[in-house]
Amino acid sequence: MSGRHFLQIPGPTNVPERVLRAIDSATIDHRGPDFSQLGLEIFSGLQKVFKTSQPVVVFPASGTGAWEAALVNCLSPGDQVLMYETGHFATAWCNLARRCGLQPTLIPADWRHGADPDHIAAKLSEDTSHRIKAVCVVHNETSTGVTSSIIDIRAAVDRVAHPALLMVDTISSLASIDYRHDEWGVDITVAGSQKGLMLPPGLSFNAVSERALKASQSATLPKAYWSWQEMLQANKQGFFPYTPATNLLYGLREAISMLLQEGLDNVFARHARLAQATRCAVQAWGLEILCLNPQEQSNSLTAVLMPKGHDADAFRALVLEHFNMSLGNGLSKLSGKVFRIGHLGDFNDLMLTGTLGGVEMGLELAGVPYKKGGVQAALDYLTATAVHDKNRASVEVA
Ligand SMILES: *Cc1c(COP(=O)(O)O)cnc(C)c1O
Repeated sequence: MSGRHFLQIPGPTNVPERVLRAIDSATIDHRGPDFSQLGLEIFSGLQKVFKTSQPVVVFPASGTGAWEAALVNCLSPGDQVLMYETGHFATAWCNLARRCGLQPTLIPADWRHGADPDHIAAKLSEDTSHRIKAVCVVHNETSTGVTSSIIDIRAAVDRVAHPALLMVDTISSLASIDYRHDEWGVDITVAGSQKGLMLPPGLSFNAVSERALKASQSATLPKAYWSWQEMLQANKQGFFPYTPATNLLYGLREAISMLLQEGLDNVFARHARLAQATRCAVQAWGLEILCLNPQEQSNSLTAVLMPKGHDADAFRALVLEHFNMSLGNGLSKLSGKVFRIGHLGDFNDLMLTGTLGGVEMGLELAGVPYKKGGVQAALDYLTATAVHDKNRASVEVA
């Protein structure tokens, strides 16, 4: 097919040309003098993106590796961990915790709401002997398009004065949705390269608080490849204890510089606006957004429920075949029931309208009952909210 493929899954996202060009450079000696400069630049840039003055550890791994790293660095065999079932990813993190030798409790929920701070507080206040060592929450549940309020969850933990560490998965929110590691009192922030950070898959991160570092000194789960200690020692000089993913780090340096040039607040506002335009389209189509609470609807992706009797995967296959666009599938119990529109990363108004055009044409071709006009609703919203730069030359002829 000619023209560009539309990669509108909620990660991996479209990698900008600038990042691709940066990756396309000679691999250097990771123990040589030039490397140290690259490493130090990346660590200080990452601190700005995570909004932390504390270290950010970089692993050559998928996000799943950073989940495991967060747990094994701070916890001991048999430790209790409190998790909240926001969707597929929260459940997968819980299963991973169990396989690591922990005793996770997953607060059951309906996959249509964010993590409930009061429910977490209630569970913690029952734990009078403080056997729960960590609370783990997914900030933006990518399987459902629901964003949880981390600041409210922190407040809930504080309200019951429970000493558990707070671990947050920001794999599909970092650099797309406002996030503040230090200010929100998060102990470990888990992130990955292939979503808001606009890189290919292959890097993941742990931002680490002082409390988490302290906990890691007495934690006894086995940790070798994931150990922060060796990492942080080498990172001080801009190096890594083992061979890093050098070319992805070139890309990361470029991606951070793009984000900081745009300004993080502008990045978040861009995502919020494109997400709202997407929701305008879905509403105009008369389809249902999976996330029930408008305040929790994600700015990085939208999960759309397929009308009964219609298979979301057949619809996605048709869109791929006719329009060369990949949409996200329904995960685990949502399989065949939802499709997900990724609107995060290197993304703009026309990429969104192209995406929504593909969805609307797909609905028509697939015979899904819908109302026309979703794309128009998005165009109207985008036009009404287009930022008008008064300094730019007028298009009117005098
Ligand atoms: C993508 C994603 C993961 C998994 O990351 P991998 O890189 O596939 O291991 C975990 N959590 C969330 C919220 C995600 O969006």
